[in-house]
Amino acid sequence: MSKVSKHFTDKELMSPMLIKMAKERNVPISWYILNIWIEALEDVRIHFGKPVYVNKGINLRRGICTEQECIDAKRKFVLANGEIVSLSQHCRNGAFDITVKGISAFEVGLYIHTIADKYGIGGLGIDSKRNFVHFDFRNSKEMVEWKYTA
Ligand SMILES: [Zn+2]
Repeated sequence: MSKVSKHFTDKELMSPMLIKMAKERNVPISWYILNIWIEALEDVRIHFGKPVYVNKGINLRRGICTEQECIDAKRKFVLANGEIVSLSQHCRNGAFDITVKGISAFEVGLYIHTIADKYGIGGLGIDSKRNFVHFDFRNSKEMVEWKYTA
């Protein structure tokens, strides 16, 4: 485990498989996590002044991972030319499912909205029931927003 910023470690933001991959390839973590993603997470952390949890719970809150892990978790996959492909931003780009300690998902979502342009956040999903917010860095002109109903 190593720190990637003041408040976050690689283990919190990346899946075990991705960390293993980075080690095997002997490449720095920054190959997988862009600075601007970490800056956005730090922004949320500092704004609320409370711990921000990523990668907590199984298949629920997550950081970035490999495509195989997305497929294994049955996250947004499609069949393309007979091959299973995941469209999840967690493996396609950068995406984080976060919970801020003591703060509702709704409030966290509102704040992320205000910083979206600054960090290039293109997707925002709010799950009030399970109390987490998904945000990602997809390249879209207008922010894609949704509410989880499950
Ligand atoms: Zn997510």
